[in-house]
Amino acid sequence: MIGLLALVAIAMALADDEVTGLVVFSGGLLILFGYHLRKLERLAQWTLEPVGAPLPSAMGIWRRAFRELERRSREAHEARERLTSALDRFHDASHAMPDGVLYLSGSDRIEWLNRKAEQHFGLHAMRDQGLQVTTIVREPEFVRFLQAGDYRDALVLNSSRHPGLTLLVQVVPFGEGQKMVVSRDVSQLEKLETMRRDFIANVSHELRTPLTVVSGFLETLIDGFDDFEREDVQHFLQLALDQSLRMQALIGDLLTLSALETGAPAPAEERVPVAVLLHSIAHDARVLSNGRHEIAVDLGDEDECGILLGSEKELRSAFANLANNAVRYTPDGGRICLSWRRGPGGGEFSVQDNGIGIDPVHIPRLTERFYRVDRGRSRETGGTGLGLAIVKHILSRHHAELRIESEPGKGSRFSAVFPASRVRAGIRSARS
Ligand code: ADP
Repeated sequence: MIGLLALVAIAMALADDEVTGLVVFSGGLLILFGYHLRKLERLAQWTLEPVGAPLPSAMGIWRRAFRELERRSREAHEARERLTSALDRFHDASHAMPDGVLYLSGSDRIEWLNRKAEQHFGLHAMRDQGLQVTTIVREPEFVRFLQAGDYRDALVLNSSRHPGLTLLVQVVPFGEGQKMVVSRDVSQLEKLETMRRDFIANVSHELRTPLTVVSGFLETLIDGFDDFEREDVQHFLQLALDQSLRMQALIGDLLTLSALETGAPAPAEERVPVAVLLHSIAHDARVLSNGRHEIAVDLGDEDECGILLGSEKELRSAFANLANNAVRYTPDGGRICLSWRRGPGGGEFSVQDNGIGIDPVHIPRLTERFYRVDRGRSRETGGTGLGLAIVKHILSRHHAELRIESEPGKGSRFSAVFPASRVRAGIRSARS
């Protein structure tokens, strides 16, 4: 540019007449003006192009200005990219959170919420933004809690929209009167807590009944020891002993269950010969039945029974529980069959009886602790109400499944289905 001006100046100096000099000078100025105008136009056009588009090439002062503009624009672009990706990450993380997060303005209007909060409170991020939260989340405890302004303790909220959903809601004030509401699904914990309370109530109840009987007998004996015949005293003592044995059985079952539930080590990988185990269980069941039932064992080809991998003690306890139940819930003269079948998919142990059977409504709950169809009959026959809960635990520790089929008045079939990984061919069948 300076060169162009110098040329014009020389032209003027060399020119003989002033008019020619002026024309050359004006021409030079016009060219200069045109050049700057073009660069300015190009700059204006560039501002309309997408961010990051390269600036046109230029010389002199324009070149410096363009370079500086380009550098600043690039830096601003990069800063914006960084911010956008940080925002995206925050957004993704917020939506992936297992807890609900809801931001409220100073007047409790919804500013932002993540997906979990949508589910927990039945809100919709787009639809409900800007609305007063208490016009949508209307549970009176929540409204009171939010308005009371004391957020030191969390609120346990039973959702009215989703029955069975219990939320732990915490409010954290921040900024200028804004609030962050954090919600956590504690339904499972609540359920466990209810189960724990029920369990303690049940155990206390189960122990109190025999204990009352024992202390009643003892009081009677103390009050009138000399008035009773020897046979009466013996009778009372026998009844007291029966009740103590009942308590002992209950405590034994409770300890077994607790050992199974509270991190007892995985069952030992013993090789349990199924035929031997079933014959021994049938023998014990016959002792319990005392000739009142016909108890058969069906093993198919005994040589093909094979072995079960697991804890002999636990498997014996589970199978014996099922066999004993069949004896206890089958009227005299009934027929009970213990059977075992091994196939490529695993093995199945089953106990079939033609006893009193079970109404289908009870079947899904039979393995709950202390669940009994007929409390009286269970007690009379020495039941604790924990047998099937123990069976279920043992089977699940052996990756097996308990199946129950039953029809009232016709009988029941309880079976334990083992996966192939738990069943092996026995020594004799492996040879054949
Ligand atoms: P219980 O000690 O009362 O027998 P269980 O957990 O072993 O407790 O069984 C739970 C309930 O299941 C029993 O109270 C009984 O009502 C029912 N039940 C179990 N086995 C049989 C069966 N073979 N026939 C009929 N009812 C059964």
